[in-house]
Amino acid sequence: MMNLEHFNLDKRIALVTGASSGIGRALALGLAQAGAKIVAAARRVERLEQLVAEIEQAGGRALAVAMDVTDKDSIDAAYHRAEQALGVVDIIINNAGVAAPRGFLNTSDDTRDFIMNTNVNGVWHVAQAGARRLVDAGQPGSIVNIASVLGLGVQPGQAAYCASKGAVIQLTRAMAIDLMKYGIRVNAIAPGWFKTEINADYFDSAAGKAYIEQMPAKRLGRVEELIGPVMLLAGDAGSFINGAVLPVDGAIHARLS
Ligand code: NDP
Repeated sequence: MMNLEHFNLDKRIALVTGASSGIGRALALGLAQAGAKIVAAARRVERLEQLVAEIEQAGGRALAVAMDVTDKDSIDAAYHRAEQALGVVDIIINNAGVAAPRGFLNTSDDTRDFIMNTNVNGVWHVAQAGARRLVDAGQPGSIVNIASVLGLGVQPGQAAYCASKGAVIQLTRAMAIDLMKYGIRVNAIAPGWFKTEINADYFDSAAGKAYIEQMPAKRLGRVEELIGPVMLLAGDAGSFINGAVLPVDGAIHARLS
């Protein structure tokens, strides 16, 4: 029998990277509402402090931790602080990410490395450090990687970003297989388009508005529409979902080649 309690996250401690903005901020608020204690991580700590205050005003529990996902020492220090304050992190939401819309011929090595270091190596290091802590503690857990529909199909002018999100999807599958024996599930969400700081300029432009009209749903997603899917993958309600990639995109993936 389905047990609705499986959607309850009140015994869980959830780290959300990139919680200072956009999707990560919405996910932190949503997971807190579902009962999880939140470790909000990013570089802009003053924004995280505001988020923590908002969660605590609503009766939740949260901690702001400085974390640069491209810096392993900073990742370790953040986990250490989280563990001391709240306990072992058993939900990891790898959301921090960057974009640099450029075609293949115009992408410098520096730009490519910037994208890959954040979007791929960042996911790798945050997941690896967290999974090692779970294994040491003998605890199960779940990891949700925020990929993109551009990890499933491609669009022009996004070479490094598409490559990075494709890598996140394959890494998700590889981690799911390798971590299964420790009771750690790993899944990915592939969001379509949601207006946040990463793309607001484009979606406010005439070209962006015209693009929205071509989308199957003819609208952008609302960041809150990612909360339910992430809760499903992160919590016990999704206990047999592993290595999956869930598009949340109003059917954009169905049209991408
Ligand atoms: P935002 O630009 O609003 O947020 C990006 C977040 O990533 C910020 O909180 C930023 O925090 C954090 N971040 C960036 N670099 C680092 C770093 N080195 N260390 C720690 N944190 C970092 O974008 P979104 O909310 O839209 O994006 C969130 C994720 O969703 C990304 O992975 C993105 O690729 C993905 N996505 C977004 C889509 C959309 O339409 N918006 C579509 C598909 C995927 P700070 O600067 O404070 O460190």
